[in-house]
Amino acid sequence: PSHQGGDAPIRLTDNDAALAKLSAARLGYLSDPFIKHFVPRASFQPSRPPLINIGTFVRTVTIDDLVEQWIKLSNKEGKRCQIVSLGAGSDTRFWRLATGPQNDGLSTYIEVDFPENTMKKAMAIKKSKDLSVILGSPIDVKLGGTALSSPRYQLFPADLRQDPNISLKSLTTAPPPLNPSLPTLLICECVLVYMQPEESNCLLQWFQSYFASTGVLGTIVYEMFGLGDSFGRVMVSNLKVGETFEVLISARSPDELPRSSSKARNVSLPGADPFPSYQSLPSRFLNLGYTTARALTLKEIRRSYVEPEELDRISKLEMLDEIEELDLVLEHYAITWGLSLTSSSMGTWSEW
Ligand code: SAM
Repeated sequence: PSHQGGDAPIRLTDNDAALAKLSAARLGYLSDPFIKHFVPRASFQPSRPPLINIGTFVRTVTIDDLVEQWIKLSNKEGKRCQIVSLGAGSDTRFWRLATGPQNDGLSTYIEVDFPENTMKKAMAIKKSKDLSVILGSPIDVKLGGTALSSPRYQLFPADLRQDPNISLKSLTTAPPPLNPSLPTLLICECVLVYMQPEESNCLLQWFQSYFASTGVLGTIVYEMFGLGDSFGRVMVSNLKVGETFEVLISARSPDELPRSSSKARNVSLPGADPFPSYQSLPSRFLNLGYTTARALTLKEIRRSYVEPEELDRISKLEMLDEIEELDLVLEHYAITWGLSLTSSSMGTWSEW
């Protein structure tokens, strides 16, 4: 099917994600000195409500930690790791890693998004000395400004719903190419929900077969799930499945949803929620032949996995009086991670 024309609302979800990160960074939840370069007029952007900042914090530190563990385990095996971020949008993780203690453990970092978004990102990178200096030289902007490559980082334009044998083919040759023998981590942060399940399965399978003979492959998926309860149904009818974190949680009650969902109206997303419950999340991976998979909701992570000192620190940043509402929202978001190809010593990653 042709998807032309109707994708603008999907691409624009990245603006919300970037604004949420900018807000969380500016208020001190997260350390991210790079996000401001990807947000036009960053210093004039208003902050987000505490609920959104906390959600952004929990999601980001958890994925950061899974990434860090992956790099460390790869390095223990004597290998540097490769990261592929699908639907990366304005994400800054490459720059944060490259300026952090894990820099030496990282081999290459590849980001994929729609050409309109990769073009915007390539322009922001070229415009900012802070960003481009970290990439090193040479920095090559190609394909009419929609692709960028540098010694370790590549920005690659593709519609991830299309046949990966065609749309991702040149990833395997473009510099730096996707190396089939490195321990590789796929990050799908709030992106698979914009595709039909068959399309995302096909995508994950393409990566599995690419690494099957020599590689090790781990995958992290972050998204909304469990739209089966009544609060959820309201979200489905008004927001359409999988609208972004920010739009969803800016609604205080189901009554407010229609008003706050104005941005979401045109988003056309898969009709049925393929993952109605928390228990069903790992099955996406297991059904595709992954050997292990685990899922945790942001609610559980905040309660049981975030360091108490960190919780204490962030609780002082802003007043939050809707703690029940926070739980209600955070329990609809989950991080699922799994190993499809592994080596004996990297298996512990799935235990996190
Ligand atoms: N991963 C980033 C983050 O978490 O901040 C951005 C998330 S944003 C909600 C979703 C991103 O996925 C957008 O940049 C959008 O363009 C991208 N995306 C969605 N469907 C896509 C597709 N079929 N092909 C390529 N990119 C897609």
